[in-house]
Amino acid sequence: MAEEHPTARKKKWLVAVSFLAVFALVIVFGPGRLVRPRFSFASQDDKADPNNATEQELKKSAENKPPRPLHTHRSFSERIHQRQMMVARQIRARDVQDANVLAAMRTVPRHAFVRGRDLRRAYYDHPLAIGYGQTISQPYIVAYMTESLKLDPNSTVLEVGTGSAYQAAVCAEIAREVYTIEIIEELAASAKSRLKELGYTNVFARAGDGYYGWKQKVPFDAIIITAAAPLVPPPLIEQLKPGGRMILPLGSPYGAQTLVLITKDDKGKIRSKSLLPVRFVPMIGHVTKADQSPEK
Ligand code: SAH
Repeated sequence: MAEEHPTARKKKWLVAVSFLAVFALVIVFGPGRLVRPRFSFASQDDKADPNNATEQELKKSAENKPPRPLHTHRSFSERIHQRQMMVARQIRARDVQDANVLAAMRTVPRHAFVRGRDLRRAYYDHPLAIGYGQTISQPYIVAYMTESLKLDPNSTVLEVGTGSAYQAAVCAEIAREVYTIEIIEELAASAKSRLKELGYTNVFARAGDGYYGWKQKVPFDAIIITAAAPLVPPPLIEQLKPGGRMILPLGSPYGAQTLVLITKDDKGKIRSKSLLPVRFVPMIGHVTKADQSPEK
């Protein structure tokens, strides 16, 4: 056997000792701490990793996330069976298929949007009076109109005709944000406080004439008008995003009305399609004047 050179032996020892030292350090401090010291200046990569963010950074990123409905109000855990039956018998049975829409209809506590005297009828297959001569639509019509808008979690929706705010809440279960306008001040005020109480933090409600839309929040992916209009308000067509969809009941105030779907393609071309005969309360405000044909 060849005699080992003393410096080679020394080297071997050094390698063995340093290996043992590193091993001991890993055992004592754990691999995470060794690789990433406890106190350090955050690098770009550290910032990108949410597990490595400081409390402040986490708070900031939560602030940037769009708010979602809270679902903590007690009414969400009431009458669940009634909502399931409503969806099965009135909505699925009539061929509404969008899973998000069905889930939203099962989630929103419709009984929290009707008057106390109508609690028993909240999940019936028809519209109900909400005061001031206005109505909350039949559940099927709410589901049908919502499905036709093809909402997704990034959609921004404009609703004209807040009423009880039920339709707005259904849209808010799916979309990112809902802006809703109501012309009757008292209804707008009660809708606003109801939405707040129920935790709909992604619905923004105000009083006004929806004919003019909500200019500060344009453009919208989807627009829904829940009062019958004699014509499509031109400002609303303008406020629709290319690729966007609008649904409204079109027709005379107390006569024949049809749900019409308006689409704007990526080049801005408008198309319309008649869907379903309906009966809605009339849209009031400027649209009634705009409808008057010019005098000859
Ligand atoms: N979407 C409502 C039902 C709406 S009933 C719900 O889910 O309960 C129609 C509503 O449209 C009424 O409240 C009526 O006051 C409102 N309305 C009528 N004309 C309007 C207009 N020009 N702008 C805004 N709201 C209007």
